[in-house]
Amino acid sequence: MAAGTLPTPGSKFGPCVTACAHRDCAETRKMAAAICEYCNGPIAYETRFYDRSAGEGHTDLVHATCAEVVVETGLEAYHDARKGTGT
Ligand SMILES: [Zn+2]
Ligand SMILES: [Zn+2]
Repeated sequence: MAAGTLPTPGSKFGPCVTACAHRDCAETRKMAAAICEYCNGPIAYETRFYDRSAGEGHTDLVHATCAEVVVETGLEAYHDARKGTGT
């Protein structure tokens, strides 16, 4: 599975900076706003992500970095690490 990135708004392949009615722009914005299920943060632009969407109308994106850590260490260890060890 290859990771992708979303082009920054206003860049050559990115969506318009201002609100517009372009289909491609709307799609890119929607993907950038999608929430990574591992860290609960938005996918955002210029950040590697995996598209695990299955079928139309269902968006399931995760950060590549999050997914790689989970694959490497397991989901439980990942969440433990995020909770932090405290001080
Ligand atoms: Zn546009
Ligand atoms: Zn994430």
